[in-house]
Amino acid sequence: MGTSNIQAPAIVILGKGALATAKRIQQLYPDALIHGLAERVEGADRSYAEFGATLRQLYQQDTPIIALCAAGIVIRTLAPVLLEKGAEPPVLAVAEDGSAIVPLLGGLGGVNVMAREIAGALNTTAAITTSGELRFGTCLLNPPAGYALGDLELGKRFVSDLLSGESVRIEGAAPWLAQAQLPEDDHAHLAIRVGYAEREPSANELLIYPRNVLVAVDASVADIANSVRDALHDSRIATQALACLLASESDMAKPALHAAAQALGVPVRFTSAASVSEMVQQVLPQLLPPINPVDGIAIAVAPQPLDTEQVGRGRGRLAVIGLGPGAAEFMIPAVKAELARANDVLGYETYVRMAGPFRADQVLHCTDNREEMQRARHAFELAAQGRSVVVVSSGDPGVFAMAAAVLEALQESDNPEWHAVDLEILPGVSASLATAAQAGAPLGHDFCVMSLSDNLKPWGIIEKRLDLACQADLALAFYNPISRSRPWQLGRALEIVRQHRSPQTPVTLGRDIGRPGQTLRVVTLGELAPEMVDMRTMVLIGSSTTCVFARANGSQWVYTPRWYGDKPEK
Ligand code: SAH
Repeated sequence: MGTSNIQAPAIVILGKGALATAKRIQQLYPDALIHGLAERVEGADRSYAEFGATLRQLYQQDTPIIALCAAGIVIRTLAPVLLEKGAEPPVLAVAEDGSAIVPLLGGLGGVNVMAREIAGALNTTAAITTSGELRFGTCLLNPPAGYALGDLELGKRFVSDLLSGESVRIEGAAPWLAQAQLPEDDHAHLAIRVGYAEREPSANELLIYPRNVLVAVDASVADIANSVRDALHDSRIATQALACLLASESDMAKPALHAAAQALGVPVRFTSAASVSEMVQQVLPQLLPPINPVDGIAIAVAPQPLDTEQVGRGRGRLAVIGLGPGAAEFMIPAVKAELARANDVLGYETYVRMAGPFRADQVLHCTDNREEMQRARHAFELAAQGRSVVVVSSGDPGVFAMAAAVLEALQESDNPEWHAVDLEILPGVSASLATAAQAGAPLGHDFCVMSLSDNLKPWGIIEKRLDLACQADLALAFYNPISRSRPWQLGRALEIVRQHRSPQTPVTLGRDIGRPGQTLRVVTLGELAPEMVDMRTMVLIGSSTTCVFARANGSQWVYTPRWYGDKPEK
């Protein structure tokens, strides 16, 4: 509570009339991306197909939203997700011509601050309706980063008491309140109290905690989260003042540690020291010796709120992601979120470009398609420095792509820092599935997926597998069917297939599926010639049961029935 949103806002527009205003707002928030409705807006950073789904997804991902359209549209669109517990990012409606700014949601996430900033940039005034904010020029319940509000409900009562005319005294250091127009009086009955000490909540105090406490823990401590809470309580320190946990680098991959940090709602940072007192001295050397209430826990209190990014180092993250075939709608939300948090993005240049646009602070490492092991090792080197790294593949990363290369690099390495990286593989829609969906259901029954590339496997094994898959009457999906350096392999593969399948067998050819200029063709095995296929094509060959029938749009549906042998009775 009280930490303002750190994500860059999304500027959402419906028509090109809003683009000029959107760009002026973008100058204020350079990391913000402009999302434009596909087909109506050119020149946006991202395009979306469906306004409602896009807005709700941004909201649920806690992304601040600046929508350049009627406030009513925004309200009606977000209404279904408002009652869900969870994120409440700032949401603002801005008139297309920039003449009106209406903060709608996210009062505690700093929406009024944003409204004033935008109003300043557009030379207009913000429609602020929050009474406390209007009277005092600040939201008392939304202290700045580095401070936490004690209790929201008590806080609301406190502010309404203030609004009803009471005066207030400030105890402790609250530099951000210096500008506020508060009715201050040293003898007031109401007090705003800023400090890390544990206090009983009371109706006449607004408790605000500086996040200036650090707790070093040994990961072998039992029930870390509760032990930390107890240790703080025994030392009369409020848990709300906890800024982060600190642990030894050798404990970096311990799940108990990360579960505890999550339960306490704080990040965990790492140092090379082994004992908890040494850990604290390493990151905060200027402090007095830490409080050491129990074995395996040390508490340190800094004079100012801690910038946790500067404390020790974080655990690096490496995500191997699948972009899907190409179009943004086919990318899973977890992949989008991962791209947004990335510091470094690695991959074949075409795919990195497909994953963009990126912010100026994100580093792109584009490499040749063939340097996979080198790219995988580079990714671990970056992640081991504590960075958030993304390796991109098209389609699914586990299908003839980077995930296996990354795991191979990890298995080959005896570097403990690589093994401590938070590694996750995020799936995508593979080309065979994207192509199949457009044609109907050619893979509707058992099927076999093969790469026809003999770069990394002997051609003999490809022939053998192909022959056996055909004998088993599996539908076939060929990746990497042909290339300039592998000109004859597809022809040879088709010879084998033709020994088992009739010339009438339906074949689906999908080229650049989900990308601009995509084509889909349905031919027969008899007609199929290698010239119809290139390295951007997916080849789906039917089994003996795959059939086609006319589709209303003049093309054909292809499907493989779910049953085999005699059609079951209805
Ligand atoms: N990981 C990817 C596959 C990489 S292998 C995935 O899961 O889709 C590369 C091969 O995939 C290409 O030679 C082509 O056969 C196929 N392919 C990839 N993207 C495609 C697309 N958009 N349309 C058709 N085929 C595609």
